[in-house]
Amino acid sequence: MPLDRRIVDEFVGVLGAADVLSDPIKTRTYECDGLTGYRVVPELVLLPRTAEAVAECVKVCARHGVPFVARGAGTGLSGGALPVADGVVIGLNRLNRVLEVDPENRRAVLEPGVTNLEITAAASPFGLYYAPDPSSQQVCTIGGNVAENSGGAHCLKYGFTTNHVLSIEVVLPDGSLVTLGSDSAEQSGPDLRGVFLGSEGTLGITTKITVRLLRTPETMRTLLADFPSVAAGGQVVSDIVSAGIVPAAVEMMDALAIEAAEGATGAGYSLDTPAALVVELDGTAEECDDQFEQVKAICDRHGCTRLHIAGSPEERAAIWRGRKAAFAAVGRISPDYIVQDGVVPRTRLSEVLDKIAEMADDAGLRVANVFHAGDGNLHPLVLYSEADGEVERAEELSSGIAELCVAMGGSLSGEHGIGTDKACSMPTMFGEDDLEAFHRVRTAFDPGDICNPGKLFPTPRLCGERPGKYRPHPLEEQGAIERL
Ligand SMILES: Cc1cc2nc3c(=O)[nH]c(=O)nc-3n(C[C@H](O)[C@H](O)[C@H](O)COP(=O)(O)OP(=O)(O)OC[C@H]3O[C@@H](n4cnc5c(N)ncnc54)[C@H](O)[C@@H]3O)c2cc1C
Repeated sequence: MPLDRRIVDEFVGVLGAADVLSDPIKTRTYECDGLTGYRVVPELVLLPRTAEAVAECVKVCARHGVPFVARGAGTGLSGGALPVADGVVIGLNRLNRVLEVDPENRRAVLEPGVTNLEITAAASPFGLYYAPDPSSQQVCTIGGNVAENSGGAHCLKYGFTTNHVLSIEVVLPDGSLVTLGSDSAEQSGPDLRGVFLGSEGTLGITTKITVRLLRTPETMRTLLADFPSVAAGGQVVSDIVSAGIVPAAVEMMDALAIEAAEGATGAGYSLDTPAALVVELDGTAEECDDQFEQVKAICDRHGCTRLHIAGSPEERAAIWRGRKAAFAAVGRISPDYIVQDGVVPRTRLSEVLDKIAEMADDAGLRVANVFHAGDGNLHPLVLYSEADGEVERAEELSSGIAELCVAMGGSLSGEHGIGTDKACSMPTMFGEDDLEAFHRVRTAFDPGDICNPGKLFPTPRLCGERPGKYRPHPLEEQGAIERL
């Protein structure tokens, strides 16, 4: 049902006509995020320039019960920024200023549309940097990172987004503007900042973020090591951790992922190896030297066939360019792909990878693996061709992999979120009581169910197979849809 003209006029009254997009050619740009298998062209896209304008837009939504979806750069891989039919998308890209870098207190204050990499760019003149580094860091926004509690290669040692955010200013679903958390390290009362981190845009819109900055490490050592099998590489990871070493990053790529990444970047990866590990150590020169010798010895012990040690910042950058380009580069070897994001206990890595290979064979599809091995955070890329009618098989395989991770004692998502993609799988990880508790938190913030509805939590409409007692979808209660 099209939005009432009077409601559209109210948005235009708040933002001005130029910042309200309704032309379907323009709004189509916002029809999906990085999970391109789901698409909904939004009715209206709003592009506010200030937090106050965001709040005014949300007030209009709240007054008329119009659903809204916040959007950063749209790089999300779980369909979190998928528009809601008959709703509006609120794009945050125009709130893109670094408001303050405070080197003495080691923190920065940012608008939500600042990209992840811009934070470190602003901090580096002071010898500081922002640690969480998603592979999409050149484009993804800090607002999206907060919503997804994003991770990255260096989160093994330094922790995820939640460990680096001190406070956030948020527009709640009724349009009020509040601050959660505090710029001092200690605060009293429940940690509502923590509740908001990782809530995938379902509790409100972040309009200002204060993050911690870290000192740029004195030394960094980066190596690229080839192994005769993924299992051998996995064993190296376990042995490094058992030796008491906490590397800044440990990343693994299998042959298919290497083929794609090397083809796209020419970063110097071997094309004839079944598996490669990127290991990075950081700290003082003395610490790094000592740990580096130990890591090299562990690699040798597990049949390392080639060890390339970055000899300059350029060579280090090349190694990371290959790893960070891997997802996008898979487009070179497959017309379509789904990036899965399950977590398993590190000790079960090789068992799970073997099982994934079996499942891929059964489905008649290829799976490339590139992942944060130190965290046990897998990113199997399910390759398929929509033109060849493989969509359904690919989706089934992808969900099967996520559920396998849960069965192995892991989690449905390490960092990409649940979004639209895995809402139906939530009951495999959480019981009815847990889901009920999540629901109560969500409705405490958003009683009208207008803030990114249908994401993260399973609903009967999305998930016919959801176990437990039947609960009508809000659209059923409104009489808009019927249960068949
Ligand atoms: C090539 C590639 C590599 C990637 N690598 C990684 C990785 O290493 N680690 C990782 O964690 N992720 C990774 N991602 C996933 C993605 O980049 C992250 O989830 C990122 O945080 C999304 O940011 P965004 O600005 O694009 O958000 P969007 O995709 O626009 O939105 C993501 C979610 O955040 C919500 N949201 C956005 N802005 C706000 C706001 N201001 N307030 C409230 N809610 C908001 C949206 O509603 C949606 O639910 C990768 C993606 C790609 C395409």
